[in-house]
Amino acid sequence: MITTKSKVNNFDKSFIIATVSSSRINFKRNVQTAYIGETDKFTFGHSIFLSNLPNIVKNMQNRPLVYDIEESFFQYLQDGDVIAIYQNGTIHIIWDKNLNKNDATLFMTNQCNANCIMCPQPPKKDEHSFYEINKSMLNYIADKNIYWISITGGEPTLKSVELLSLLRYSQKLFPKAKIDLLTNAKKLEDFSFAKEVALSNSNITFCVSFPSDDEDDFNMIMGTRNFTHAISAIQNLGLLRQMVELRIVIMEQNYNRLLEISEFIYRNFPFVVHIAFMGLEIVGNAHDNFQKIDILPLKYSQNLLDAVVYLKQRDMNISIYNVPFCLLDKKLWPFIKNSISKWKQTYEEECRFCAKIDNCPGIFSTTKESNYKLEAIKT
Ligand code: SF4
Repeated sequence: MITTKSKVNNFDKSFIIATVSSSRINFKRNVQTAYIGETDKFTFGHSIFLSNLPNIVKNMQNRPLVYDIEESFFQYLQDGDVIAIYQNGTIHIIWDKNLNKNDATLFMTNQCNANCIMCPQPPKKDEHSFYEINKSMLNYIADKNIYWISITGGEPTLKSVELLSLLRYSQKLFPKAKIDLLTNAKKLEDFSFAKEVALSNSNITFCVSFPSDDEDDFNMIMGTRNFTHAISAIQNLGLLRQMVELRIVIMEQNYNRLLEISEFIYRNFPFVVHIAFMGLEIVGNAHDNFQKIDILPLKYSQNLLDAVVYLKQRDMNISIYNVPFCLLDKKLWPFIKNSISKWKQTYEEECRFCAKIDNCPGIFSTTKESNYKLEAIKT
């Protein structure tokens, strides 16, 4: 989520959601609009004014105002972007017209019932509910062609009532949109809850974190004893004929069991629709634990190849996320997906000379530390 800090004046709500508009009057739609323009003049028909100027308050009298916005963020904003503005001056772009054209992300909560050692966004207390923000955002983009909605956190199932409501609402507004629900599945061990979630939207893929087939490793990686809960939850989802994707983030603690993990998945959950092997994003807990968890992709390349071959021979659907081509064995390239969210996807100077740049996921701009070295592919 692209975000910045600014200052606010005459702002009496805890937050507002608005769509950015540079047209001088916008009476057409019954939505809040945030006027953006290089001006300190009154412009009617807008809910709030956005300005990069630091000394504009006195000119705006009693108009709601967000000012002193960082220049690069201000220039980035475009007509049609949907933003959340908080009373403390934080601005988030919650739907980016260019980057999100056909997709949307519902961020449910910062809280989690696990604390994974590689989590890029460690759990913390919520300062406010995200429900109204998500619902408003869905309303604002209701006329767009949204094909894909990602539901994330924290752990989204902790907000069970809000989650069910948003899943139903998404189904109503976007009946064909594919929903990816990212979860550690602990709460889905409760069959009746799993059933309720499954019935709330017909297009959900449950993207379940599954770091190991070994119970102790699994629990150590997740920071909580979730192995047996996750097993029951995945079985529940299988009984409910749900689409399940299992996600294996590769790290020092599990790279030498990738084949065993794959065997375990095939034997116990042959119904899963997708298995994603994922590279690390070194921020949050992953950064705090960098020395402990980091592993170079070239070191696990053979283990990953063995796992992928095993699963492919059994007709399972496999992808590799978040690892660029130049860091993996060529035999794994057909499985690499351009998976990093656009707003945090980046490349290095070396990539300019690379033949694979058009399809390459690149690297996380958020990663704070790394040992890999990118190398342009010449063919
Ligand atoms: S050099 Fe850059 S573009 Fe090429 S494979 Fe590596 S990360 Fe991707």
